Amino acid sequence: MKADSVFAEDFSHLPYWWREAMPRDTGPVDLPDATDVAVIGGGYAGLACAIELARAGTDVTVFDAGEIGCGASSRAAGFTSGRAGVSKQINLQKAVGLQRADAILEEADEAYAHLQDVIALEKIDCDFQPLGRFVGAHTRHAYDGIAAKMAEYEASAPGDFEMVSRSEQGRYVESDFFHGGMMIHNAGSIHPAKYHAGLVRLALEAGVCLIGNTRIDRIEGGVQKVLHFKHGSVRAGEVMLATGGYTDGVSPWHRKRIIPISSTIIATEPLGRERVSALLPAGCPVIDTKRVIIFARPTPDGTRILFGGRAKFTPSNPVENARLLHHQMQRVFPSLSGTCIDHAWSGYMAFTFDFLPKVGKQDGLHYAMACNGGSGIVMMSWLGRKAAWSILGRANRNSAFEGLPFRTQPFYSGIPWFVPVVGTWYRFRDWMELRGT
Ligand SMILES: Cc1cc2nc3c(=O)[nH]c(=O)nc-3n(C[C@H](O)[C@H](O)[C@H](O)COP(=O)(O)OP(=O)(O)OC[C@H]3O[C@@H](n4cnc5c(N)ncnc54)[C@H](O)[C@@H]3O)c2cc1C
Repeated sequence: MKADSVFAEDFSHLPYWWREAMPRDTGPVDLPDATDVAVIGGGYAGLACAIELARAGTDVTVFDAGEIGCGASSRAAGFTSGRAGVSKQINLQKAVGLQRADAILEEADEAYAHLQDVIALEKIDCDFQPLGRFVGAHTRHAYDGIAAKMAEYEASAPGDFEMVSRSEQGRYVESDFFHGGMMIHNAGSIHPAKYHAGLVRLALEAGVCLIGNTRIDRIEGGVQKVLHFKHGSVRAGEVMLATGGYTDGVSPWHRKRIIPISSTIIATEPLGRERVSALLPAGCPVIDTKRVIIFARPTPDGTRILFGGRAKFTPSNPVENARLLHHQMQRVFPSLSGTCIDHAWSGYMAFTFDFLPKVGKQDGLHYAMACNGGSGIVMMSWLGRKAAWSILGRANRNSAFEGLPFRTQPFYSGIPWFVPVVGTWYRFRDWMELRGT
């Protein structure tokens, strides 16, 4: 480490994950004149949809503005879970009613079980570790809040959750920062880029045509759609939008409904297994309850810590974000104060105004998007598949996520001007609460 810096000599702003699994460079590809289904976006949602369609005999082409997987899907922290991922920020029963809330939670569990099946049955080597997740309370009051949330979750999933007192939390995290918390037993972690690479393999085996570095600029409507890009166009019978937090003007309707939120992760230099397991003894990921969340996990080989959060919410200098996170990491783990960072990267997550993921069809475009925080690995894989069923006309059972209103707000056109203001307000409230502990 340089004397004045928290950055290692060989610091990289590329995701730590890309050392083992890079986004797929498709190279020059002969562009088709027409395709049965054009999928826009090559992340989990787009690939899950494409695989399902291609296996049913459909001719599918996936387009991505960058290399396949360059969006959030190769940048995630790798936390996986079912119901605990989909309604963290809201009172689900109040938002959608008791019956629908139960159906959503059950479907989220089904989605997580499906992810585990896919990994096992399709032999995707992605370092899946079913070690649970610890949700640490940032105040005593927050502890009571999670206990109430646990009651909501546990009603139809007894045994999956456990409240852990401050004196016992050392089983999961060695830090005085937390005031106890909740252990989610039915949760785990993966290497997100290796999982994505596994989906790329399945897509290619199924005959999907992957076309990277081709941004779709415009879609002309009608029964047969025409997708326009810089150097040409392609006709498509159906179009699936899987653009997540990178949704742009290709569909202004969706852009007005998606709020892109930036999240950043830093990777420490190698610390050694002993030091990492002294801080995270159970090897499971840890997340906190602040509005501006922080999270930590060991790398799959157990030698480093990945530490992340919503450092700035908006596009900002990655070096500044990394410094902020390093500072927060020291507050949680003071023993890491002299440790330097050798990777820091950011990506965009898609949020909606009601904090729920969306799947459906609008103006002739199918879509699956919006993880609203850390549930996209499970939920985007699942909803991408659901969208494929709907395209195939095979949806024998509707998804509990279908038909939810997908709202926008006045004066919002896709540029999240209010996010820095809300972020500052959230940070201020977190700070006040922490001062009161
Ligand atoms: C730092 C970070 C940490 C995260 N941690 C977790 C976690 O621990 N657990 C979890 O479950 N989730 C996590 N997430 C969220 C998760 O990564 C996402 O929800 C998920 O990857 C979204 O998948 P997707 O397929 O919808 O979109 P993406 O993977 O973002 O893919 C969208 C793609 O669409 C392409 N695109 C956009 N517009 C166009 C266009 N006009 N033409 C062509 N292509 C276009 C983009 O280039 C992009 O590649 C995290 C996200 C980030 C950024």
